[in-house]
Amino acid sequence: MDIDNKKVALVHTASYEISALTESVQKLLSALGIQRDFFRGKKVLLKPNLVIAAEPDSAIITHPNLVIAAAQIIKDSGAKEVIIAESSLISADTMQAFKKSGLQKVADAIGIECVDLKKVALTDVKVGDAALLHSIMVPKLLDGYMLVNLPKLKTHIQTKLTCAVKNLKGILSDGTKRRVHFLGLDQAIVDFSLHVKPALNIVDAVIAMEGMGALNGTPVNMNLIFGGVDPYCVDTVAAELIGYKTGDVGYLKIASERGIAPPWIGEVTLTGEDIDGFKRDLEKPSGALPELSMVSFEDAGACSACIHTLTAFTNARKGELTRLGEILDKRGENVTIFLGPNVDKQTLKDVHKPVFFGKCTKAVSDSFTGECGFVPGCPPAMSSDLFEKLIPLYEIDEKKLKGSFFDRLLKKIKHGD
Ligand code: SF4
Repeated sequence: MDIDNKKVALVHTASYEISALTESVQKLLSALGIQRDFFRGKKVLLKPNLVIAAEPDSAIITHPNLVIAAAQIIKDSGAKEVIIAESSLISADTMQAFKKSGLQKVADAIGIECVDLKKVALTDVKVGDAALLHSIMVPKLLDGYMLVNLPKLKTHIQTKLTCAVKNLKGILSDGTKRRVHFLGLDQAIVDFSLHVKPALNIVDAVIAMEGMGALNGTPVNMNLIFGGVDPYCVDTVAAELIGYKTGDVGYLKIASERGIAPPWIGEVTLTGEDIDGFKRDLEKPSGALPELSMVSFEDAGACSACIHTLTAFTNARKGELTRLGEILDKRGENVTIFLGPNVDKQTLKDVHKPVFFGKCTKAVSDSFTGECGFVPGCPPAMSSDLFEKLIPLYEIDEKKLKGSFFDRLLKKIKHGD
């Protein structure tokens, strides 16, 4: 079968009805020149985006109906075996993600196994030509399976865009995912993509996400699935669709400089619907960490897990953090919260009462000679732990902390319940 690796097909898809998705996936395969032989006799591993446990319509995850439509088509094409596999965000429960999405139930009904890649045997693989990430831990079973990647199109607070290439991070062990962040996300993404290579990518952009993705953005209808063989060609199209150019997206720019990705959309062979009919200038993420007056964040190579926890928490508790900031402002103080493994001790020299967030700041917190706070966890739980450190550390007068959230928190601080 002669397939053009540079080809990316776009198919209008009005809804998440299984029948509509089945028709769209069939159209997409045919536009790419992929026939039944492509899957016949193969063991196929479908890799959706189930980054956290989320509802099917949340726009956070690949819609389960797209996964099932693809699985059924591949099964009917004579694949020897089809499995769905994922390893959710660092420390997140993958089986919970399978359940909450509804994927587990429908997969069970058609006899397809959902595999938690956090629980399978791993193997250490050397990545030839890597710039930073020279070895990765991946599931041993990857060797025997054809990888079909089913990403979700979303904006991303760290990489600007998450689509085909970044979705492959969910194949890596949690330890390797951490190293990807510590070494520098964009370059390390390109490195692991040299080894983790999908045979096909089909993107769920029926409802995409804009703004503070990949977890805290806003759903947006794009009524589209698109895909192709080369994940970089697919992501070049993804970038164009949502209002970026290759040079705007770090990992695409690096990959194009290294000769792995096309330098611009003009080198991708587009087929199917006209891309212009689907282009949307999606709201871009405003930055990795929230912006609050009197409370600032210093990211020293933290994983998405810590960043998303902080972003979600501060979004949910913006009012309380602002209130705290106003109290500190009157005293001429401000709070700096450090996260990530690469906090430079030199930068702490003049920082008053820093707060260290997450397990990998423990050593620097222990060695800090002045007063400081440490929030444990990897990542810290989505809880009031951060406030629990801030209130005593900054000796906040509890009479100034009004509201039910602070009432509950102060009770907990005083009585430990
Ligand atoms: S504490 Fe946060 S930044 Fe550190 S390893 Fe855990 S999730 Fe990553």
